[in-house]
Amino acid sequence: MSATIIDGRAVSLQIEDELKVRIDALGQSGVRPHLVVVLVGDDAASHVYVRNKQRACERTGVISTRMDLPSSSTQQEVLDIISDLNNDESVHGILVQSPLPPRMDELQIADAIDPRKDVDGFHPTNLGRLVQGDTDGMLPCTPAGIMRLLEETGANLTGSKAVVLGRSRIVGMPMALLLAQKGIDATVTIVHSRSEEHSLLCRDSDLLVAAIGRPGTVKSEWVKPGAIVIDVGVSRIEDGSVPSGSRLAGDVDPSVSEVAGWLTPVPGGVGPMTIAMLLTNTVRAAENLST
Ligand code: NAP
Repeated sequence: MSATIIDGRAVSLQIEDELKVRIDALGQSGVRPHLVVVLVGDDAASHVYVRNKQRACERTGVISTRMDLPSSSTQQEVLDIISDLNNDESVHGILVQSPLPPRMDELQIADAIDPRKDVDGFHPTNLGRLVQGDTDGMLPCTPAGIMRLLEETGANLTGSKAVVLGRSRIVGMPMALLLAQKGIDATVTIVHSRSEEHSLLCRDSDLLVAAIGRPGTVKSEWVKPGAIVIDVGVSRIEDGSVPSGSRLAGDVDPSVSEVAGWLTPVPGGVGPMTIAMLLTNTVRAAENLST
């Protein structure tokens, strides 16, 4: 058996087309969605992510402003910038790119963003709404994108067993909440670094979402034949067989494609969907703030 590949890039382009219609409608009333990305320091991967986000903005007609701050910036300087952006009526979405320098308090920074402009969906108000079962607000982009990819499979998840590997604030936890929400109705197990018998828990699941950042951890023996496997992990690994000497790898071993029913590739699976959901949240924020 060979898994059907879920093409996140293609789905993300469909979403961009849908968004262009909404962006045109906003334009009729003189509003152009505007995203500001704050980048602190010079983490190489972050620069690539931010560039990809800006390109997606250009494709769809969202204005994107990038604010580059030196790694020596203080917490207070970042908070002051967020305060200015909160009060700036021309700005609809604010994103502070992770990771921040280690001495910074990411939670305090997430808390400082106006929840209506919180296009990452990490503000406690937005996460709290998700816990309350309200999925119409600003949802964290990666889990929201995965929910859209699951629609592509046509699978009915009601009563299905789902395992989420990883329990981070930005991926694992909100992912588990979305899968367990009423209307989706999966039975969710969260597996983390202190869990035991990872492979047994995974092998019993109809859906496996791997978000741990450990390349190739999920082996084919961990996967139930025909299961849906979503690979969130992105790690750069040394690989002498490619001209550049390194490549991106997911948390899922390539052998899984022989067992799974559906599989997302890395790159080209979850990554483009995360950006598509960022654009979706920015457009939603512009619509909400301009009415
Ligand atoms: P994170 O904050 O480092 O969290 C990793 C989680 O994995 C933690 O909950 C950790 O458990 C758990 N974990 C680590 N090793 C494990 C193991 N061997 N078995 C089971 N659980 C284990 O990472 P994150 O921000 O959630 O990101 C995870 C991965 O997704 C990274 O590779 C990241 O680059 C990628 N990512 C991709 C996108 C995208 O758009 N494609 C977006 C976001 C993240 P503990 O809590 O016990 O420590």
